[in-house]
Amino acid sequence: MRRRHFRTTFSSVRLAAFLLLWLPLAVAAADIRIGVLAWQGEESAAAEWQPLLASLQGSLPGHRLQPSYLDLGGMENAVAAGRVDFVVTNPGNYVALEALYGVTRIATQIIEAGQDSAHTVGSAVIVRDDRHALKRLEDLKGQRLAAVSPDAFGGYQVVWAELKRHGVDPEDGDITPVFTGFPMTRVIEALENGSADAGAIRSCLLERLEREGRVPAGRYRVLSPQGAERPCKSSSPVYPGWAFAAAPKTSPGLAREVLIALLGLPAERTGQTWGVPADYHPVHGMLRELQITPYDFLREHRLEAQIRRYWPLAAALAMLLACWLAYTLRVEVLVQRRTRELSAALAARDQLAESIQAHRQQMEHLSRLSILGELSGTLAHELNQPLATISNYALGLARRLDNGTLSSAATAQAAAEIASESERAAGILAGIRAFARKRTRIRETVDLPTLIDGAVRLFRGMIHDAPQVDVIDRLPADRRAVEVDPLQIQQVLLNLLKNGLDAQRSARRSGHPMTITVEIAADDGARISVRDHGTGMSGEEQSRLFEPFFTTKADGMGLGLSISRSIAEAHGGTLDALAPDAGPGLVLRLQIPLAATAPETDEPAQ
Ligand code: ADP
Repeated sequence: MRRRHFRTTFSSVRLAAFLLLWLPLAVAAADIRIGVLAWQGEESAAAEWQPLLASLQGSLPGHRLQPSYLDLGGMENAVAAGRVDFVVTNPGNYVALEALYGVTRIATQIIEAGQDSAHTVGSAVIVRDDRHALKRLEDLKGQRLAAVSPDAFGGYQVVWAELKRHGVDPEDGDITPVFTGFPMTRVIEALENGSADAGAIRSCLLERLEREGRVPAGRYRVLSPQGAERPCKSSSPVYPGWAFAAAPKTSPGLAREVLIALLGLPAERTGQTWGVPADYHPVHGMLRELQITPYDFLREHRLEAQIRRYWPLAAALAMLLACWLAYTLRVEVLVQRRTRELSAALAARDQLAESIQAHRQQMEHLSRLSILGELSGTLAHELNQPLATISNYALGLARRLDNGTLSSAATAQAAAEIASESERAAGILAGIRAFARKRTRIRETVDLPTLIDGAVRLFRGMIHDAPQVDVIDRLPADRRAVEVDPLQIQQVLLNLLKNGLDAQRSARRSGHPMTITVEIAADDGARISVRDHGTGMSGEEQSRLFEPFFTTKADGMGLGLSISRSIAEAHGGTLDALAPDAGPGLVLRLQIPLAATAPETDEPAQ
């Protein structure tokens, strides 16, 4: 009993183990999941593929076919996730799945009877026959091309590759694509309604539509037709057709079973034929030319490779550029800052120069007023003389008129004297007024000896006991002109003469004649030496002579010589003092350049 029980238990365990191990396998083997590419939606794909799948199901009684109709993305996801055992798809998609996931074709579709499996899918580019200018694919430049979809293999990609080979690249904008969507007859509608100039369709479609009477024969023409021996006109080479392929994990036994079933299907029942698997290399080549899936990496790859190859150079260039930019910016900033500083400094300098100039003019003016002030006592006396003479003559005339002794000759002489004395007084006043006037810097070409004579006359006119001043003129006839401010030079000379007179007075030789020698100096300029016979100077005094405010006089300002030297320097000249060759006194020497041209009024020296 125990033995029987044991045997029974043993058989139940063996059965359970058998069922556990083999049942799932048996169930799995029964299901065959087939992914079918559905271009125009699930419904139309189901209608198209139903006859084939039904026949196949009939040939595989031990299995249950489970078709799923997928778009391109769905197809890839299903293969990647292992949700399908077989795929039925177009050549482009098959090549992509083969390259990316290792699906293996077991059969290739043949569409028309008599085709071989390697040459079934081609494309025709058609135009309306009345478009006479469009003969070859090259003629499509600038035209609109209708096609069903950019992803359609026979409906667009084959044409795209062929156009590229003919130098017309849609990606470069050589043509304008017009995508109509499925069914493909919409492409022909686009040509009919004028929304496109040419259309891309699968080859044999035009011939079929003509056969069925849906398109009048000869209404459309195929551009650049190839393979005259083939039954349908095509503008492109002919590629292998749709592939029936096994997923990577599908067992070879199952693949073999399905393949045998597929090849054994009668064409009349399914409406299509499956042949031996074709060589898809031409499809690979075409997709590589277009650099689209699975060769889209070539686009990135090229760019990446370039970047990888040249990035050190690009980085170095970028760094150089950045350095150069930084340097340029820095230089620009520095230049701008320096320019601002320089302009400010220049403006400050100009302002300073202006104020120095204004001060100098003020000083010169003050100095002239000071000379006038010092001379005013004698000036009053000087003016007194002509006024007294005029008064005398006038009184004399009145007296003679009273006692009836006024002759016309006496009246004329008195009038002449009065006029001459008035003129003398007016001359003195005019000189003083001109001398005292404030003025800005001027330059005039004047005859130098004439200028010196004028200064001497003014000096002697203003001082009643002025000593004689001898002017010794040693200038050659053709080199006498100087370009100066005459009044300033006169101011210097007056100052020197007055200083000389003061020194002669101190030395009690006030009546001693003074001399002014004018001659050509060693540097080819003019040299004017004013010699007096006064006290002369000690060495210490001589070194301070031109210092502003240096004076030995009780009422002196000590500005005369320093202003005189600055006037000499403003004329490009010098002023210095030296002891005379012989005798007492001092020589003050003013040197100024001669003018290049003669003065306008060529008065002779007096
Ligand atoms: P100021 O005449 O008002 O003193 P200056 O600058 O003209 O001012 O002269 C400065 C000083 O130089 C005078 O005080 C004087 O001592 C001295 N000096 C100028 N000229 C002579 C001269 N010809 N002989 C001697 N001393 C002179």
